Amino acid sequence: MCCNAQLTEKDLVPQSYDPAFLDAIKGMRFFDPHVHMTSRTTDDYQAMADAGVVAIIEPAFWLGQPRTGIDTFRDYFSSLIGWERFRSSQFGIKHYCTIGLNSKEANNEKLSEQVMEILPLFIYKEGVVGVGEIGFDDQTALEEKYYRAQLQLAKEAGLPVQIHTPHRDKKQGTTRSMDIAIEMGLDPGMVIVDHNNEETVKEVLDRGFWAAFTIYPFTKMGNERMVDIVKQYGTERIMVNSAADWGISDPLAVPKTAALMLERGISKEDIEMVAYRNAITAFAQSGQINVADFERPAEIDQSLKFNGSTVLRGGQQPRPNKQSTIIR
Ligand SMILES: [Zn+2]
Repeated sequence: MCCNAQLTEKDLVPQSYDPAFLDAIKGMRFFDPHVHMTSRTTDDYQAMADAGVVAIIEPAFWLGQPRTGIDTFRDYFSSLIGWERFRSSQFGIKHYCTIGLNSKEANNEKLSEQVMEILPLFIYKEGVVGVGEIGFDDQTALEEKYYRAQLQLAKEAGLPVQIHTPHRDKKQGTTRSMDIAIEMGLDPGMVIVDHNNEETVKEVLDRGFWAAFTIYPFTKMGNERMVDIVKQYGTERIMVNSAADWGISDPLAVPKTAALMLERGISKEDIEMVAYRNAITAFAQSGQINVADFERPAEIDQSLKFNGSTVLRGGQQPRPNKQSTIIR
């Protein structure tokens, strides 16, 4: 359509699409335990639901630019347990989150002190399944200070910890993150070490931690490499996520990886472990996950509102609930 044409309501209705990989994984359920939906559009929720994603965890992270005051942290944490959870529910996806001070922003000491003060107000809320994502970015002294403080908080709360491992000096940063967690008295079974690669996986598994892998174009793991890792290391304590965020990333990374695994001869049972079951086992240690919530078709009513707002914009119609026998 060219620039002169008048857009009509019909042109604004999202195009339905049906890529071939969706056929291969039809009927399978997925759990993406690391995805930053705050930075994604509502279309992404729709596509994720269509691809079989039934539950997600949104770890607290940065906003693309540094925050300048504590109120923006407070609002952000509130949106993770409020608006985002609502928006997700409008597509039948169960939304959990982990709450924490991310490593990048830990380098602002004055603000970090204030964040530490409000964290206990959020980590005990319903649907908060851990402290995260925390750890190292540049491996500075301040990052270490707040990483330790938050490990202590998680230990006291009996919550799992979701660790972000650095892009630079990854191997050393990963080892150091695990050393510190053990030194602080955390049980490795309560710690999910994220963004692993071929260099780090063996040590993480050998030391009894959970090894999460982020399928992210260009910078982290490609899913062909992920297939090889599962073939080599099996499925125990391994999980896959998208970590989709502000960058060029893919919120369908988990279902796409599942489709590729299937194509390359990995069994459905093994795929279920790394793309669904292990994330539940690890994060259910928070006492906040009830599998029954997403193992039956969700009731979806897109006309519902959250603080007066819906996911629909002017003129858009609620998506019909195809599970329901009632047609309105
Ligand atoms: Zn992240």
